[in-house]
Amino acid sequence: MMIIDFRSDTVTKPSPEMLKAMMNAEVGDDVFVEDPSVNKLEEMAAEMFGMEAAIYSPSGTMSNQIGIRCHTQPGDEVICASNAHVYIYEGGGIASNSGSQVKTIEGNRGRITAEQVLAAINPDDVHKARTSLVCLENTSNRGGGSCYDFAEIKKIKKVCVDNKLQFHLDGARLFNALVAKNETAKQYGETFDSISICLNKGLGCPIGSILIGNKDFIKKARRVRKVFGGGMRQAGFMAATGIYALRHNIERLKQDHIVAKQIEEALQKKGFIKSIMPAETNIVIAETNVPAKDVSAKLEANGIRVIAISANQVRFVSHLDISPEMVDATIKIINNL
Ligand SMILES: *Cc1c(COP(=O)(O)O)cnc(C)c1O
Repeated sequence: MMIIDFRSDTVTKPSPEMLKAMMNAEVGDDVFVEDPSVNKLEEMAAEMFGMEAAIYSPSGTMSNQIGIRCHTQPGDEVICASNAHVYIYEGGGIASNSGSQVKTIEGNRGRITAEQVLAAINPDDVHKARTSLVCLENTSNRGGGSCYDFAEIKKIKKVCVDNKLQFHLDGARLFNALVAKNETAKQYGETFDSISICLNKGLGCPIGSILIGNKDFIKKARRVRKVFGGGMRQAGFMAATGIYALRHNIERLKQDHIVAKQIEEALQKKGFIKSIMPAETNIVIAETNVPAKDVSAKLEANGIRVIAISANQVRFVSHLDISPEMVDATIKIINNL
């Protein structure tokens, strides 16, 4: 039986071309800032976003956590959506790594508004934590791959500037949003103080994330990365996959979005599905009428792997290791369930 893995876009394995890029990578000691491939990847990313500098790290979690640490002091408060990855999926890292607390906002599929952010800022009062940072997530993972309206991001930016708050983007899947909404990396670079992007999601690298910001911020981030244990030596073998992915794997994300739409349409006809968040990018989250684990077990029995992300929600994520044959097979299996 063919196994079709929709659990996450992190399950991809390097293509032969990506492996070749790894094998041919020029490397050095990156803790000495001497790895030519890491340096090149960081320069490429900074340039793409029109920002001054960037730093490579092993995971998106570390990249976000370094960013938050650099933007905050212990006792500060960070504003984010109630289902934000930085809050629900990073092991309490904001508390343990930065000594900061979180004020959450109920978003629309993970998207918060400028009005909500403004209302969440604490007054300058000794009783209150100092609000210092706003984190957005685009696309929103738990929001089913939803994308922000850039005009709203601009409004939130103004609130941040007016109130002297730092502005961080968890852009684990930002490239999905860019291709879906025809936006540019530079628009985002102009707007945020720091951006974390994942290479290990839709871009298909085995590991790695990049944090992008201005020179002073990245200098601070280099120290924090070392403290967090993320200083790697000949990381260029991995950075080479990132260089390859930024060159070859961005435009093709559109394909993943088409696949997600096809899955959404097939699921719509099923009696065991109560509702579906319209697929905007590569994630489909469907609410089930029956226990989600029964649905995932039934799919699994047919070779389709998904995640039951809650008692009544299943999640499909499309990615570059899903072939056209797998898509056809998936649609057939769903139709026959
Ligand atoms: C995957 C993900 C991350 C980082 O995850 P790692 O597994 O640590 O690379 C951060 N934010 C979002 C929204 C994600 O989906």
